[in-house]
Amino acid sequence: MSQIILECRSLTKAFDGIRAVDNVWLAVERQQIVAIIGPNGAGKTTLFNLCTGFLRPDSGFIRFKGQDITRFAPNQITLLGIARTFQDLRLIRQMTVLENVLLAIPHQAGEGFWGAIAGRRSAREERTNHKQAMEWLKFVGLENKVSDLAGALSYGQQKLLGLACCLATGAEVLMLDEPVAGVEPATNDRILDYLRHLPSLGKTVVFIEHNL
Ligand code: ATP
Repeated sequence: MSQIILECRSLTKAFDGIRAVDNVWLAVERQQIVAIIGPNGAGKTTLFNLCTGFLRPDSGFIRFKGQDITRFAPNQITLLGIARTFQDLRLIRQMTVLENVLLAIPHQAGEGFWGAIAGRRSAREERTNHKQAMEWLKFVGLENKVSDLAGALSYGQQKLLGLACCLATGAEVLMLDEPVAGVEPATNDRILDYLRHLPSLGKTVVFIEHNL
């Protein structure tokens, strides 16, 4: 079995003639931790958007476990096994910590987000999901915050919640856009400890960071 889980070849994306991503080749091995570094505007987030289906490249292709996913939609890519976080977090601030994580768990029958909102989940599935959500919340140290509104958490805690949501998708590859940017030093170290631990749980981590 190939050790390469995520691969980009000659990936190019231009906006108004300016190449944000210019002939990028990338090969990420299973259970590796890879940092994408570069100054503001270097194209790091654009690369993430391409790998996760939020943008289509002008040329080149992306493979996940050997399968061409270049033109797949974001939800298809997440279900296959690549999940991401965003710089602006994108949590549902008016919902609780636990609800945010529960919503990130893919539904077994594929009914998706609105089905989950409407409560069309079997009691058994709900129990399993609850257990899983609690495990990831424990993993990031937020088990005492489950009933708090996401919007009431500190910025560092919101970053941790974003990570828990990403993990709750069950994806093998986690693409984290600046996972420690703007957090206080103690939370910074905590998040880095969690990231270091992820390969032992079978996860591959690709993250964007400015601070070397
Ligand atoms: P930062 O570290 O500031 O987040 P980055 O390395 O992630 O930067 P990108 O956000 O990928 O860089 O942006 C790369 C270039 O592409 C920038 O010049 C940006 O203005 C441009 N760009 C990104 N997305 C779009 C878009 N949707 N439409 C037009 N231009 C865009």
